Amino acid sequence: MVQQKPKTPVEIYQLLDKSNCRQCGEKTCLAFASAVFLNQRQLADCPHLAPELAAALADQDNSRKPFEPGAEYVKHLQAEVAKLDLAAAAARTGGTFANNRLTLKVLGKDFSVDTAGNLSADIHINPWVAVPVLNYILHGEGLPLAKVWVTLRELKDGRERYPLFQRQCEEPLQRVADSYPDLFDDLVNLFSGHRAAQHLNSDISVVLLPLPKVPIMICYWLPDDGLDSSLHVFFDATADRNLDTDSVYTLGVGLATMLKKIARRHGAGLPGRAEVGSG
Ligand code: SF4
Repeated sequence: MVQQKPKTPVEIYQLLDKSNCRQCGEKTCLAFASAVFLNQRQLADCPHLAPELAAALADQDNSRKPFEPGAEYVKHLQAEVAKLDLAAAAARTGGTFANNRLTLKVLGKDFSVDTAGNLSADIHINPWVAVPVLNYILHGEGLPLAKVWVTLRELKDGRERYPLFQRQCEEPLQRVADSYPDLFDDLVNLFSGHRAAQHLNSDISVVLLPLPKVPIMICYWLPDDGLDSSLHVFFDATADRNLDTDSVYTLGVGLATMLKKIARRHGAGLPGRAEVGSG
């Protein structure tokens, strides 16, 4: 029987020995599954996986990357968008329509798609940005915001499909925030975000708009009285209808990955606007 490529971190975990033996260099099998899902590790790095199974799954790696949908998938979405009435889509999604283009503000920058499906933007067009934007245009319901902040786990299927979101998004962001005191001011300035009322008694709450009707709130609690800092990411309760949970997840992890790479590259500060969307 042909082994199906696992589609989620949980499915990858189910292939593992679950002994948490650390021979792969990760603290737990779950951490290893998460790293494989993000294409940071190979299944073959686990010495307890049957070699023939690792080889069979590796052979399929070129055909599907779960977190980085390839150019073919982006093209498919572009073709679907080209069939839409973009003027109506602009009204639904909070964009503008002019000169045969629908333009949305993505993290404060213009991102356009024309009636032939061609993309252009003031930011680097990376799949972690392009796929959510195109899915938003195709399927977003355009609901008014509920103004109720929820975690990814509370969105439709979020708990089942993305149990490792904290490890993949919130913990990397927390480490960037710990080592980079100006992070939140720079996020506000670079990405046209804004400070918000301190949600859940956080020390800092910042809201970013990766899409007009899909805000993200990042809340940070400073270290206090011997306790480590903490950071959590929240979404409006409509996020799984104005976008979809998979795309919300992709945006969250993509944003964290980008900031981690940029902070590593630039040490004490974020760079100019040209790198936004890279990473
Ligand atoms: S080597 Fe394999 S079994 Fe051991 S912790 Fe890593 S993934 Fe789990």
